Amino acid sequence: MITNRRELLALAAAAPFAAFAATRALADGTACYDPAALSMSQKGLRKSLQFVDLSPDATKRCELCAFYKAAAPGCGSCQILNGPAASGSFCLSYAAKPK
Ligand code: SF4
Repeated sequence: MITNRRELLALAAAAPFAAFAATRALADGTACYDPAALSMSQKGLRKSLQFVDLSPDATKRCELCAFYKAAAPGCGSCQILNGPAASGSFCLSYAAKPK
């Protein structure tokens, strides 16, 4: 709870940075899951499929892939990885959703 003007000004000054950090985390996928919490097999599979949290190609990203299932805005899961993925991520198993 804000009790004085100084706290209000400090909160107002920090808000844009917090919003930027949250947006950046969502963009790179780290807001969807904790990479450190993945099992060794999940980490190995991601490495072998060259999974990246942020796709280098905007036309090929998880949310456009047939193996992706959305669960929340910007976040979902991958049937190939058998785990979480961000909508903007990518791996070598990308397969476009049928149109
Ligand atoms: S197969 Fe690859 S591109 Fe497709 S949803 Fe899974 S991680 Fe994303």
